[in-house]
Amino acid sequence: MAEKRKYKKRFCKYCESKVDFMDYKEVGALRFSLSERYKIMPRRLTGNCKRHQDMISIVIKRARAAALVPYTVTRKAVVTQPFENLR
Ligand SMILES: [Zn+2]
Repeated sequence: MAEKRKYKKRFCKYCESKVDFMDYKEVGALRFSLSERYKIMPRRLTGNCKRHQDMISIVIKRARAAALVPYTVTRKAVVTQPFENLR
């Protein structure tokens, strides 16, 4: 492949760790499927299986409603952080 893949070989992280139930309060587990702007990562990038992706999307939406995960990140919040190390 000429193009370098951003994500390595795909496998479902949740199948590997045998997750049968996801809790919206466990934000740490959701981070695998959230982008840096807290978007839900598409299955083609994460390699999650259909079953777990469906679970994840429901759980993330619940977590958003409970204000555990932000809906959106403003552009400033994302951009200003890399410059903090320079000061
Ligand atoms: Zn899976």
